[in-house]
Amino acid sequence: ATPTAIMVGTGKGAEQGILIRGGESLERIQAIEAVMLDKTGTVTRGKPELTDVLVLDETLDEETLLRLVAQSEQGSEHQLAAAIVEGAKARDLALAHYPTRFVALPGRGVEALVEGRELLIGNRRLLQERGIAFDALLSQLEALEQAGKTAMLISVDGRLAGLVAVADTVKESSAAAIAELKQRGLAVWMITGDNERTARAIAEQVGIDAEHVLADALPEEKARQVKSLQDLGMVVAFVGDGINDAPALVQADAGIAMGTGTDIAMEAADITLVKGNLQSVVSALELSRATMRTIK
Ligand code: ADP
Ligand code: MG
Repeated sequence: ATPTAIMVGTGKGAEQGILIRGGESLERIQAIEAVMLDKTGTVTRGKPELTDVLVLDETLDEETLLRLVAQSEQGSEHQLAAAIVEGAKARDLALAHYPTRFVALPGRGVEALVEGRELLIGNRRLLQERGIAFDALLSQLEALEQAGKTAMLISVDGRLAGLVAVADTVKESSAAAIAELKQRGLAVWMITGDNERTARAIAEQVGIDAEHVLADALPEEKARQVKSLQDLGMVVAFVGDGINDAPALVQADAGIAMGTGTDIAMEAADITLVKGNLQSVVSALELSRATMRTIK
């Protein structure tokens, strides 16, 4: 496209809340054949709420367990942590102690020392790695995930103690936008660090085929999956909002960040969607096609 067409296109994008870095990005997006979407904060609101607390350890009651967990999560910046902390406050629990030791374990969960107790909160992978069996909670875990919730296992002082679950709902605009992308012939994928059951439940709600869902993905894997689609000869866009998504945003032919997400994602992206909804991906595609048409 001519510099003028690009300038006009970029200006129109800005008016619609689509911030495009460089003319090349605007040109490239019309060539996209596959779109890979992050789940949490991209397809879903990313504002999960605490829904369930389940206690297994008979020496602890529900309030004590939730207090220990919420205090541990005060050390975390993760959306899941915020949901747990808010949920505990909503139940009038006093969160007086901050963890004296805290380690965030990306793609797994957290490890914290609070009130002299050693907590682990996170997914199967985390407990497996620490050699803590969770068979006793497996059926409850699976039932919660089947309902589309994210359940996190808890161990206190090295013993399985219970679980907490949060639910994140899909954005209203997601399903329609995904349908439009598919209608335009694009292959739509969803990738997440969350587990398979939850991921599939969410995917089903927005019309993404089960075989296009990649779950249990560590942060490095998102970029690797983008690359494997590229290796098949596809031009790939990645849409994400998190720190975790930065490598995939860089790897993709078009990196698209949600303006409602982290600065790191926006810095890594070619395009930022101010409104933070997937309908803007469709608009960006239209804009790019219109811009390219101008010169033909
Ligand atoms: P996503 O790719 O969907 O944004 P993440 O890679 O950030 O997810 O996290 C993957 C999984 O690790 C979560 O689903 C959760 O089980 C666990 N996890 C991550 N951070 C935390 C935390 N602060 N507290 C508990 N569990 C966590
Ligand atoms: Mg995310």
